[in-house]
Amino acid sequence: MTKLNCTVTSCVHNSEKLCKLGGIKVEGTSADVSDATSCASFKERKGDSITNECGKKPSQNSVIECMAHKCVYNENQNCTAAHIDVAGDGANSFRETKCATFTSK
Ligand code: SF4
Repeated sequence: MTKLNCTVTSCVHNSEKLCKLGGIKVEGTSADVSDATSCASFKERKGDSITNECGKKPSQNSVIECMAHKCVYNENQNCTAAHIDVAGDGANSFRETKCATFTSK
């Protein structure tokens, strides 16, 4: 499990800068910088979607499936980092998010 902090407050899964999902998927197959990664689990918060996630509690511990093979923390598409930060406050699309912890091999 990886501790996940997320500043993407425009995502419906975000609560108090934590993620309500038990796991996320990070994209970035050819990424060699953090900006080329993205959180594929992002879902824009709009209208009544605000209430869709009611009842789920945010958790700091997540399973991170990750396609960013060039990251030092990537092992067989799993993240081995103890802690990651997902960034992209105000994002309207998953492409505007990123794994800020990405570190090139
Ligand atoms: S730290 Fe690296 S392996 Fe972990 S989610 Fe971010 S990009 Fe993927």
